[in-house]
Amino acid sequence: MLMRESVWMCPVCGGDLEWNDRSLCCGKKHCFDAARSGYVHLLPASRMHAKLPGDDPEMVRARRRFLQKEYYAHLRQALTDALHEALPGGGVLLDAGCGEGYYTAGIRAALDLKAYGVDISKTAADLAARADKESQYAVGSVFHLPVRDGACDAVMSVFAPYCGEEFQRVLRPGGFFVMAIPAARHLWELKSAVYDHPYENEVKDYALEGFRFLRCIPAEKMLHLPSQEDIADLFAMTPYAYRTGAQEKERLAALEKLDTRAEFEVLVYAREA
Ligand SMILES: [Zn+2]
Repeated sequence: MLMRESVWMCPVCGGDLEWNDRSLCCGKKHCFDAARSGYVHLLPASRMHAKLPGDDPEMVRARRRFLQKEYYAHLRQALTDALHEALPGGGVLLDAGCGEGYYTAGIRAALDLKAYGVDISKTAADLAARADKESQYAVGSVFHLPVRDGACDAVMSVFAPYCGEEFQRVLRPGGFFVMAIPAARHLWELKSAVYDHPYENEVKDYALEGFRFLRCIPAEKMLHLPSQEDIADLFAMTPYAYRTGAQEKERLAALEKLDTRAEFEVLVYAREA
């Protein structure tokens, strides 16, 4: 491990976890060994409601293939810009629901932050840790973050479950919360090609309890998808993938190339004192 510092908290007793060679241990001798790839499993069995919680491995791999082609680089850049403005002198970033670490690793490399990622999917945490040895990754729940109170200068949430109370708990006073959301017409052309009656995304009010809204950074790009594989991988990443009928799947499979807009909003908040 290159980084010996830690913001991790024991998921059993709530004590501080410190690195001891390749294990994280608390004062009460609860120890958690790093996997070969480097991530640590900090999700107690009592909170694992499924054998493989989180996104299924095939979905994680589809997202990985798609993101590796840099189709969402404009979103990563907007997140980087938001965090650079919030933390010009660096600091500790927690990516809550980090997936396979595409945003975590890219932002950490661009801004020289100390980055930590938590995801409930073991497949995702493993892929993240393999590719990025300078950030620290853990399997854990966004709803019970294995992270100490006030340890983070910023928390980031990119299409992951939201838990405002936990994000406030792990942020220092005045710390920042950065969230990405899809804009109203995100993937409009893809949805139009697949559905008879596509709907725009509902963009909710920006207000979040316990946070002061600072700004919104739009991130918009037209994607040019040259292959069925890229189109299928993108579709697998969307929430619609779970509720698509046979006819829509046929239309999707018939698409050989597609231009579609990828439009996001990056919202920046400060934790209220
Ligand atoms: Zn403990």
